[in-house]
Amino acid sequence: MLERAQHVLQTVFGYPAFRGLQAQVIERVARGGDALVLMPTGGGKSLCYQIPALLRPGVGVVVSPLIALMKDQVDALLQLGVRAAYLNSSLSSQEAAAVERALLAGELKLLYVAPERLLTPRFLSLLARAQLALFAVDEAHCVSQWGHDFRPEYLGLSVLAERFPGVPRVALTATADEATRREMVERLSLQRAQPFVSSFDRPNLRYTVVPKAGAKGQFLSFYRARHQGGAGIVYCLSRRSVEETAAWLVKAGVEALPYHAGLSAAVRQEHQERFLREDALVMVATIAFGMGIDKPDVRFVAHLELPKSLEGYYQETGRAGRDGDPADAFMTYGLEDVVTLRRLLAQSNAPEAVKRLEARKLEALLGYCETARCRRQVLLAYFGETLAEPCGNCDTCLAPVDTFDGTVAAQKALSTVVRTGQRFGAGHVTDVLLGKLTPRVRSLGHHELSTFGIGGELSERAWRSVLRQLVAAGYLATDAEGYGTLKLTPRSTPLLKGQETLRLRRDPTAAKAKAAVKGG
Ligand code: ADP
Ligand code: ZN
Repeated sequence: MLERAQHVLQTVFGYPAFRGLQAQVIERVARGGDALVLMPTGGGKSLCYQIPALLRPGVGVVVSPLIALMKDQVDALLQLGVRAAYLNSSLSSQEAAAVERALLAGELKLLYVAPERLLTPRFLSLLARAQLALFAVDEAHCVSQWGHDFRPEYLGLSVLAERFPGVPRVALTATADEATRREMVERLSLQRAQPFVSSFDRPNLRYTVVPKAGAKGQFLSFYRARHQGGAGIVYCLSRRSVEETAAWLVKAGVEALPYHAGLSAAVRQEHQERFLREDALVMVATIAFGMGIDKPDVRFVAHLELPKSLEGYYQETGRAGRDGDPADAFMTYGLEDVVTLRRLLAQSNAPEAVKRLEARKLEALLGYCETARCRRQVLLAYFGETLAEPCGNCDTCLAPVDTFDGTVAAQKALSTVVRTGQRFGAGHVTDVLLGKLTPRVRSLGHHELSTFGIGGELSERAWRSVLRQLVAAGYLATDAEGYGTLKLTPRSTPLLKGQETLRLRRDPTAAKAKAAVKGG
């Protein structure tokens, strides 16, 4: 089987060898087994279902929520000589009917379908009359109600297991956290699926995060020092800052173009095509740019404003260095971004539970920004992966940051979490540490705790930073529901008992805020 797969890889797709876990997934699915594939963006998920579909009799049905990308994928397959088609709302009824005829005549090897179309009774009965090689559920995390990509239609996909028990199913995603994984297994009936989890590490990416002090200028220095003449993406939060930054860079002599949803489709298309074609273009964009962009030699991704979460950051930075050559992930962050993101969160119409989860994700992102540890270790730990040694290829590894012996501060913080019953978030814990007699402190009697007011040596902001760092380093855990409740972890015991010391990073935003106040 593996030999046949290899042959298809080389003759149809023109690649010399499989990457990572591709060969194992393909073997499993081609033999008729189910699989759950977790691979980072750019990891090569498509071949994991395309090749088994070519190796098995019948058609591989691919469920994808990204209607905009279906046509590109199908065109690429057709160019390789693979009989592929797609069905979604962009087709006329005549076109759709032609695809359905081809399906029933057994003329297709791959068929991409939007979930809402797949789930119509009519289409399901059509499928029952076709020979099916497999089902692939792409972007399978869309079935998770907690994720930001939730698609209600995905909940209906469990019907595939019931209606077509003999057809192998493969679910694929780049979202790896444990909770999402469990939901996928449950909701897509993948109890018998073998999990294939790739490492999310991108060793050729160098992570750098600097406190913001004139982000455009900081970016320009970085660009001139490391990537003059290289292609890259600069992410900003708003259309306005995209426009401003692009214009500013052009003035500074950088070949830069803007990209955001406010530009006409024609302009966006033109800018995207130039970016793909040219070697040295800097695309200044909102996160609208990048999904499905396959340019292997992007040399850097820069965030001049904070991404929404570490998942977002990972996805966006993952667009750099797909060719495996050294590339940079550069980010500036400042308090103003945190305030903006918190405000956006507060104003959003999302359900409370989702808002709480988003708030927790923001805290994790800040923990990453402020960490004194190897950034790659922190990033991978967030995705449930352990990197044994510091990476040697991130800013904190290359130039150790300003730290202080935070053992006592950490002990005070952890004790306060314990004394207050592990039922409160950073705000209340900080109030107790600072000895603030808030109504809540008073009504709970927390002013009588032995830790009340023991934290006068640090500011409120510094305590927040300490707590975030403790979360980021695994000494404290937050609740899964996203209330922000802090709890101890097994790791915290040696620290509390004084068997371990801990260095913490001085809060760079606090230092900067002080300087700004002093400077008037
Ligand atoms: P994902 O869906 O995981 O983001 P893709 O399937 O789009 O990733 O693959 C990302 C890129 O890697 C594509 O350009 C693809 O052609 C390329 N690729 C995938 N597998 C291989 C391989 N075995 N050898 C070389 N290139 C590969
Ligand atoms: Zn490192």
